[in-house]
Amino acid sequence: MDFLVLFLFYLALVLIGIVTICICSKNYRLKGLVRGGAQIFSCIIPQCFQESLQKLLHYLFYTRNHTFIILHLVVQGMVYTEYTWEIFGYCQELEFSLYYLILPYLLLAINLSFFTLTCVANPGTITKANELLFLQIYEFDEMMFPKNVKCPTCDLRKPARSKHCRRTQDYRLTEISRVCNWCVHRFDHHCVWVNNCIGAWNTRYFLIYLFTLTASAATMAIVSTAFLVHLAVVSDLYQEIYIDDFGRFQVMDTVFLIQYLFLTFPRIVFMLGFVLVLSFLLGGYMCFALYLAATNQTTNEWYKGDWAWCQHCPLVAQSPSAEPQVYKNIHSHGLWSNLREIFIPAFPHYERKKK
Ligand SMILES: [Zn+2]
Ligand SMILES: [Zn+2]
Repeated sequence: MDFLVLFLFYLALVLIGIVTICICSKNYRLKGLVRGGAQIFSCIIPQCFQESLQKLLHYLFYTRNHTFIILHLVVQGMVYTEYTWEIFGYCQELEFSLYYLILPYLLLAINLSFFTLTCVANPGTITKANELLFLQIYEFDEMMFPKNVKCPTCDLRKPARSKHCRRTQDYRLTEISRVCNWCVHRFDHHCVWVNNCIGAWNTRYFLIYLFTLTASAATMAIVSTAFLVHLAVVSDLYQEIYIDDFGRFQVMDTVFLIQYLFLTFPRIVFMLGFVLVLSFLLGGYMCFALYLAATNQTTNEWYKGDWAWCQHCPLVAQSPSAEPQVYKNIHSHGLWSNLREIFIPAFPHYERKKK
């Protein structure tokens, strides 16, 4: 593997990150940029290839499937194998503290537990049996969540903050078991990485899963960096001299040192770059998820927040002359109350009432 492959890999990761931010952003210019890119793409790429790509994207992102779960576990397995195979052994030889070296494994154990919980837990699906209970949980704001609205698919009254997950009507897949097709209480989003909706009852698992994933990537990045720095210091690599392409003697600089380390430990440097990029991407998303939790908003509400009042509010639609109203989050009751709502949802209470 040479620098070109490494560079292309990181470039692809960064591009995926940028496109994802543009798609999820509320900024219409960024969205326009993605649409423009898609139009240029459609002019260049042959029709048959476009159709296949559309089917593939539809299958990946608009149906319930296990592709991303498998990909997630394979990548995680590869990173941990590399860490165990090379870094753990080398660091032990260099007498690194065992507590630091074991930390990624502890985080992995917690992460996999919460990953499984997020995947299999009921996100808070609304059924005939619990519909009435859910209707009493949150106030209707009459803007984003008007009262007495029925879900046309489930034929149930929609409680405030709920949403029908549209991972349904998928391409040539008719089995109900492979689609969500249900209304979810306090719907946040549908996560392809866990193949489940994120709602009132599993947001807490999702947040801990996200936190441990970010922490394990960051811990590995720190240990790998410490290992390489330690190696450079112990071997006095900064004191070395090399001969450049013109036959001149040069003192070792940072760029040459990175190239040298890459050629000596290619897999470790590659893994370090990967976990570094991942730490920043996951860290950014983690901050966003914490912001939503602290302000008692779901991703769905945050996304709709600015324009719910002007485009989708039935009141405004019926009377165009009505003054536009500014959407106000009525569910936030202070930081601790908001966090308690996520980490101690009213799940057992509903269950007891059902009996
Ligand atoms: Zn529904
Ligand atoms: Zn879903």
